[in-house]
Amino acid sequence: MQRFDPLRDAKPRMMEYAVPRREGMTVLDALLYARDYLDHSIALRFSCRQASCGSCGMKINGRPRLACYTQVAELGGERVVAQPMDNFVIIKDLVTDLESFFAKHREMMPYVIRADTDELEHPSAEYLMKPEELEKVLQFTYCIKCGLCTSSCPTAATDSDFPGPQALTQAYRYAMDPRDEGGRKRLELLDSVHGVWRCHYAGSCSYVCPKGVDPALGIQLLKRHVMSGKTPRREGAKVFSAPTPQK
Ligand code: SF4
Repeated sequence: MQRFDPLRDAKPRMMEYAVPRREGMTVLDALLYARDYLDHSIALRFSCRQASCGSCGMKINGRPRLACYTQVAELGGERVVAQPMDNFVIIKDLVTDLESFFAKHREMMPYVIRADTDELEHPSAEYLMKPEELEKVLQFTYCIKCGLCTSSCPTAATDSDFPGPQALTQAYRYAMDPRDEGGRKRLELLDSVHGVWRCHYAGSCSYVCPKGVDPALGIQLLKRHVMSGKTPRREGAKVFSAPTPQK
């Protein structure tokens, strides 16, 4: 596994730990064995151990995965290589700093915005979505904010101001909520130099998501949503018709 303490080390180094394998062992189990019995200084982050909290995201054999959701047996071979997620600052070893990730999530206002704040604070009724409205955004609500999609994103690797697939997907989820009235505010964030157009549709975010979310799809739908929001400003634009073929 990769070891690196920015307070002491000039650069990361790889260390090997021999862990006895057992049936059903996850990569998180193996790392915890190494920490508990071989080297107490190993730093890693985890919590639920059931792919619900998103805390144990890391790069395993070169691919972003949840350590608790990855069986050692499914990787094949004798060696497992654990490294911290790309596109994040390393705090220590496998622990990365997710502060900017959550800041971008918050920036997208991932909640229902309403003009009637009194009703929002003291609701007088339940405001339900119709099943067909929920269907449009349901998969995006399964996000556990693990950061794996952002760690795999080539745009996030080169543009630190890019919100990333997770934040953009949540922007789409709330933009499509029929109860939401925050459209214009979010559009300004999305339709910017570092916004939704920076996604070049590599698709790696959807490939690595452990919860079956398809952020790449969400971002493409978000682009369409942004364009439809821009339509009023384009009303005066000249419309060109196809030239009439000459006989
Ligand atoms: S979209 Fe998937 S990979 Fe990205 S943060 Fe959410 S759960 Fe993790």
